Amino acid sequence: MTGLKRVGSDTYLLDSGFMGLEGLVGVYLVDAQRPALIETSGALVAPEVISTLQSAGVDSLAYVVVSHIHLDHAGGAGHILQAFPEAKLVVHPLGAAHLVDPTRLHASAERVFGKEAMRTEWGYLDPVPKESILAAEEGMQLSLGNRTLEIIFTPGHSKHHLCAWDASAGAIFAGDAAGVYFRETHYLTPTAPPPDLDPIRACESIERLKALEPEVIYFTHFGPASPALEYLEVAEKQYVDWLAVAREGMRQGLGPDDVGKLFEERVDTSRASLPPKVAEKVRRLVPSRVQAEGYLGYLARTVDASEHENKEES
Ligand SMILES: [Zn+2]
Repeated sequence: MTGLKRVGSDTYLLDSGFMGLEGLVGVYLVDAQRPALIETSGALVAPEVISTLQSAGVDSLAYVVVSHIHLDHAGGAGHILQAFPEAKLVVHPLGAAHLVDPTRLHASAERVFGKEAMRTEWGYLDPVPKESILAAEEGMQLSLGNRTLEIIFTPGHSKHHLCAWDASAGAIFAGDAAGVYFRETHYLTPTAPPPDLDPIRACESIERLKALEPEVIYFTHFGPASPALEYLEVAEKQYVDWLAVAREGMRQGLGPDDVGKLFEERVDTSRASLPPKVAEKVRRLVPSRVQAEGYLGYLARTVDASEHENKEES
């Protein structure tokens, strides 16, 4: 935990120390008249996130916005709401029920990561009281008093993904909509987990973000990046390029391990030469095998994949 770091006008980044790693999962505070938190990070690090906020003098929150319900983003929501019971938890309507009753969310995460990693790294979400939930709507304006956050639905990484747009700062709180970015090496990679990755929708969502003409992207993994439009362009191209490789792997009848290797050989070629600390974060958060599972799952679900081909080419 490294406290709050100013990244923009009244906007702060808190390094949650998720999985004991520096610069892996961020939480953002918009310190407006009615402060908002964006993301919570995981349940295991929530006590430290709360104490960092409290020691920085944050004594109330109007909103806690989660980009989606995956446990590295929303896993701490129950704890945060206990510490800030006045806050409304803003979540995509397709995700809301899973924060009130996380049984299925936990089962799905256990399948992907295993029970041991869930217990020691990802953590289990404390249920969020139903009355604290504010189901987001497309274009919803969250008034923070002296500034406003707008909710943009950005499915793709998951079907319940949203971003928060701070027009006054030209800043997009991107969650995982534009992938994962580690500034140490300016490494950007899609984040493509099962069960409901849809790379075509991810590209459509990135197009929506580009139309806002943002100046800066606040990545949850990890930190601010600009020029935003350049990163969004690259992110979109990556989702498409990876899809082509996954499709080839599927045609060859390869499983997730081999498709993961194919990603590293063909499209994620810088992964092999990352400095050790970045490589460790990438390996823990977005292992190639899990990315491959996401893509292969998408292809298996897409009965007539050819109907998308025109979109990919355009
Ligand atoms: Zn994530």
